[in-house]
Amino acid sequence: MASTAGKVIKCRAAVAWEAGKPLVIQEVEVAPPQALEVRLKILYTSLCHTDVYFWEAKGQTPVFPRILGHEAAGIVESVGEGVTELAPGDHVLPVFTGECKECAHCKSEESNMCELLRINPDRKVMIGDGQARFSVNGQPIYHFLGTSTFSEYTVVHSGCVAKINPEAPLDKVCVLSCGFCTGFGATVNVAKPKKGSTVAIFGLGAVGLAAAEGARVAGASRIIGVDLNSNRFETAKKFGCTEFVNPLEHTKPVQEVLAEMTNGGVDRAVECTGNINAMIQALESVHDGWGVAVLVGVPHKDAEFKTHPIHFLNEKTLKGTFYGHYKPRTDLPVVVEQYLKGELELEKFITHSVPFSEINKAFELMLAGQGLRCIIHMDG
Ligand code: NAD
Ligand code: ZN
Repeated sequence: MASTAGKVIKCRAAVAWEAGKPLVIQEVEVAPPQALEVRLKILYTSLCHTDVYFWEAKGQTPVFPRILGHEAAGIVESVGEGVTELAPGDHVLPVFTGECKECAHCKSEESNMCELLRINPDRKVMIGDGQARFSVNGQPIYHFLGTSTFSEYTVVHSGCVAKINPEAPLDKVCVLSCGFCTGFGATVNVAKPKKGSTVAIFGLGAVGLAAAEGARVAGASRIIGVDLNSNRFETAKKFGCTEFVNPLEHTKPVQEVLAEMTNGGVDRAVECTGNINAMIQALESVHDGWGVAVLVGVPHKDAEFKTHPIHFLNEKTLKGTFYGHYKPRTDLPVVVEQYLKGELELEKFITHSVPFSEINKAFELMLAGQGLRCIIHMDG
């Protein structure tokens, strides 16, 4: 056990005190892990658009002060009572949704929606005792998605931690803990395009490009990237996109543009924007008879999906998924092995890196629509 085990750790964290205001890097106190929890030393974290939504708190419930961050990699510092599958020194990826391995969902092959640990963005404390493990001068600082990785140390439920091969480079595999698996899994595990099919990807950020990568690996013959930002198109070619549509450059609705390009509709559509219009367009763009649309983007809290039911009578299917239908503890170590064998190219998702002291730059890049993933080095 580390000499810090059982003690409060003082370390740097990036605290979001107010909606939309730059994060403040400051010293926080991190309490020791309680029963079934682990305390992690975070080495690398990156920014996903979901962090930005909750920081802006325009379309989501505001919870402040809070430590954001959920895409990360680190090492177990100490474990709480009852933790048997993790030990100090283990290399791990924390995940925003968990796997208790005991509930009906975890026991079902069909679900990754663990009853106990499924994603809950409004939860701001640990489930064990309803308390926060972070504080500043005795004031609690709230958790985010059960991970709060914008801190040198964080406390996470052991069911939300995947133990991975220690040979994996943590500065690369950290993108597996959200963005890559979310997009890639949405295509290969949920949309399941057949070889030779046509797939539309709405939103070409890191999640959408991982979805495109999934379509490429599945053998899709045409991958049509749809984005309002045409600057995304050049990069998207490296991820297998063969054609592009910017809805702003057409007078017709994008559904009609896609129908004309594909003789009636795409076989699969994967939505990775978080925009409700794109979600509706994704469903309406798929071919009748067999088309499947999969929603991945996190919607505005008041969003409503409106479409004519005839789409369903015409045998189009609408699905959605968290974390690409992967069970974090069972499946993530396998995905890491796939990367180590050279089957997945994670490097091309990483376009920027900044030291932790400059974490606000990562937010600026995402808000400007620049780059895919910015890796934040916690030692800097
Ligand atoms: P990103 O900002 O890097 O990329 C989003 C892209 O969508 C941008 O290029 C933007 O121009 C484009 N876009 C926005 N509105 C559009 C519209 N109406 N039509 C076409 N394109 C549009 O974000 P990201 O990090 O890649 O995340 C993508 C989405 O996935 C976000 O909503 C994020 O919250 C969500 N997400 C979901 C899960 C999950 O498990 N379901 C996990 C992680 C992220
Ligand atoms: Zn469970």
